[in-house]
Amino acid sequence: MAGIYIHIPFCKKRCIYCDFYSTTLGHLKDRYINAVEKEIEIRKDYAGNETVETIYFGGGTPSQLKSEDIKMIISAINKVHNVKNNAEITIEANPDDLTEEYVNALKSTGVNRISIGIQTFNDRRLKFLNRRHNAQQAKDAVKRCQDKGFDNISIDLIYGFPDESTEQWINDIDTALELGIQHISAYHLIYEEGTKLYNMLEKNELCELDEEKSVEQFKILIQKLKEGGFVHYEISNFCMPGKESRHNSSYWKDKKYIGIGPSAHSYNLDCRQWNISDLEKYMKLVENGETFFEKEELTKEEHYNDYILTSLRTMWGADLNLIKKKFGEKLYGHFISNAGKYINNGEMRISDGMAIICDNGIFISDGIMSDLMWVE
Ligand code: SF4
Repeated sequence: MAGIYIHIPFCKKRCIYCDFYSTTLGHLKDRYINAVEKEIEIRKDYAGNETVETIYFGGGTPSQLKSEDIKMIISAINKVHNVKNNAEITIEANPDDLTEEYVNALKSTGVNRISIGIQTFNDRRLKFLNRRHNAQQAKDAVKRCQDKGFDNISIDLIYGFPDESTEQWINDIDTALELGIQHISAYHLIYEEGTKLYNMLEKNELCELDEEKSVEQFKILIQKLKEGGFVHYEISNFCMPGKESRHNSSYWKDKKYIGIGPSAHSYNLDCRQWNISDLEKYMKLVENGETFFEKEELTKEEHYNDYILTSLRTMWGADLNLIKKKFGEKLYGHFISNAGKYINNGEMRISDGMAIICDNGIFISDGIMSDLMWVE
């Protein structure tokens, strides 16, 4: 089974924290759809004819596309791939794009999962982030999707804002819980180099939230969502039972995926490749049949490190048998000997042949993963 990711690099305006590849050159959309259809055709064999289980429109802002464009892309995928009957088809959307008319039209595209970029229900913070919507629009958008029959809705939340109080964060979580959604992705605000937010920090125009408060907010998130019936299935992801993102889970479970569009990454178990992060160059190269990506073959050690970094983020953990069989005795021995102290401390456990980071190991998970990775 494989997944297909389609990058839609258009945004109406840029948010101050974002380092994803996107552009405000919306007039290039029609030409872009043609390039995407061409890349789908050119790269049809990349995942070795495996059945496609998930399709994910990410961005950028995919909800800036017309529903007919989304239909065309899905039909281009269907033309060259065997797409599973109940495939998960997700679109990321901005709340203010989800008008009655748009949500209605989405229903006829085959999209069955909507991931809404809400980030916070605090209007002051939404303005600070330079988001296009306000809190009321976000709540209305969720309701509209539910009323039209979408029963697999995810929202993104951000915590750890400068000066964010515990009460404000709890308010965001409570509001999310009241919405009756199936999935929540929650990320700490990150100061990525090159973003406006990073520059503000460099110029001392704001202060990062201190570490202790950040950890407290993460703990509150885990506790409140668990009380609300959510399963904490990946460090930053929570869902109602059975509603994991099947697409993102395939990244964490070492499955193949094809990334289409500028900056999109692909992986077929042997090599990684990534398309250039420049819309106009990408379109030109695809149109002329020239190379539009870079590629790297994975050594056994690199593949092992990728597997550690992804699998241990999840509640399913790393498969010890797979590590032994696929990566050999040397890397298996390295894993077992380095995992020992975490198991003894109760930060990791072995269950049915899977090595899993426990709840009290989650706050040091970055350290555990880097300790288990292979360094020459
Ligand atoms: S966060 Fe989303 S909407 Fe904002 S600039 Fe980045 S991709 Fe665009």
